[in-house]
Amino acid sequence: MKFYLCSTIHHSPFTIHYLCRPMDINCTEKELFLLKKIAHAAGELQMPCYVIGGFVRDKILGRPTKDADIVCVGDGIELAHKVAERFQPRPNVAYYKNFGTASIKVEEFEVEFVGARKESYRYHSRNPEVEPGTLEEDQLRRDFTINAMAISLNRDDYGKLVDPFNGMEDMKAGIIRTPLEPGQTFSDDPLRMLRAIRFASQLGFEIEGVTWEGICLHVDRIKIISQERITEELNKILLSPKPSVGLDLLYRAGLMHIIFPQMVDLAGAEYIDGKGHKDNFYHTLQVVDNISQHTNDLWLRWAALLHDIGKPATKKFEPGHGWTFHGHEVVGGRMVPKIFTKLKLPQNEKMRYVRKLVELHLRPISLTKENITDSAIRRLLFDAGDEMDDLMMLCSADITSKNKFKVRRYLSNFNLVRERLQEVEEKDRIRNWQPPITGEMIMEVFGLPPGKIVGEIKNAIREAILDGEIENSYDAAYSLMVKKAAEFNLQPVR
Ligand code: ATP
Repeated sequence: MKFYLCSTIHHSPFTIHYLCRPMDINCTEKELFLLKKIAHAAGELQMPCYVIGGFVRDKILGRPTKDADIVCVGDGIELAHKVAERFQPRPNVAYYKNFGTASIKVEEFEVEFVGARKESYRYHSRNPEVEPGTLEEDQLRRDFTINAMAISLNRDDYGKLVDPFNGMEDMKAGIIRTPLEPGQTFSDDPLRMLRAIRFASQLGFEIEGVTWEGICLHVDRIKIISQERITEELNKILLSPKPSVGLDLLYRAGLMHIIFPQMVDLAGAEYIDGKGHKDNFYHTLQVVDNISQHTNDLWLRWAALLHDIGKPATKKFEPGHGWTFHGHEVVGGRMVPKIFTKLKLPQNEKMRYVRKLVELHLRPISLTKENITDSAIRRLLFDAGDEMDDLMMLCSADITSKNKFKVRRYLSNFNLVRERLQEVEEKDRIRNWQPPITGEMIMEVFGLPPGKIVGEIKNAIREAILDGEIENSYDAAYSLMVKKAAEFNLQPVR
């Protein structure tokens, strides 16, 4: 799609001068087709119509998009129906009469329609009073200059960029700035503070000075935002190319203190007798960045963010020795469900996965320090199961020393552990392994109801195999089961 930039200086924010300098943006064929259909439908209704916001921003930046916001000067629901008529099969129009919005899904693409509106806010809510307005008024209610740009879909000036706040200049300079006075913008809807920081992290942009001051002054207002919206932004920051950018901005603004205080407890280094420990907040940020170079998996990134979360609670200064954080992986593991509940993150296998990685994150490192026995390797393979590769990725990301020699030594130790893991796995097939005797078998052989004794016999078999005391076979396990049961005065009943 070619769209046009105004080459002259804007005399007033809304004056669009003559068109010139066509510029290509990276729309796919499908997107162009869709925009044309919308334009024709709007033309038929004689309704001025524009594509606006994130779609325009992302197309100019060459980022992929999955949705488009269409703003029209008129009834958005009517336009959505008119657009839907033009497709075969006809997409369903989901609409919300109270809000005057509608959306349709065309293949993988989600299009939202809304009539241009102006907004006014009340103090205790981020939900404004809304009334119909002009395109200009609609652009004024947008959060950032780069999100306020619109492209005309009207016959007379199809492709014209309507950019009242010089969003294009900010885009080129990589700047996030509010169109209106920042204090008002953030106080009206404090979610915008998180959005500013998220865009900075996602796009690698800087938050302009006055806008940043506006955020710092209004951090307390974040308390009126629902946890779901906060966590959505937190997840987007974690999924950005370099999450430390957003996480550090949250911290420096003072927002982290409110939305995720456990992270703030990691910050700072204490000194006693001239001995200090590293700043675990910035160490964690580095670990998250490191892992983000290798994975886009949100939950693995969460595991990196939480891997040391138990350190503040376990920190001790031991005279003559220095700072210790004994058991921080266990304490951290226990904190995971609580943090997930507070942040309204899922309470399912994703949470268990993060907890498991937090609990196990020291295990591969400990294997580099001792003589690596087969049984230690088998035990780790068994405990980590399917998560073995992710755990190794987390442990490599955890090496943040500035000393290049140390880093090289750790990494080569890890390679050794990796080799041994592969060797033992090939030999013993421990990953996803189940001991050859199950609890049901034990109950059947000895006529036992479910209970503690069954568990003890089962554990003894598993431990003996993992320690290499008996062979990993049914016969060896059966013999041990009989021997162990005899200790409880039990005989096979069949
Ligand atoms: P993403 O899709 O990555 O979340 P986006 O900017 O497209 O980014 P949406 O939530 O889809 O985000 O919002 C679409 C547009 O609506 C934005 O580009 C912006 O113009 C406007 N907008 C969204 N949220 C706000 C807000 N809280 N305050 C003001 N304008 C907003």
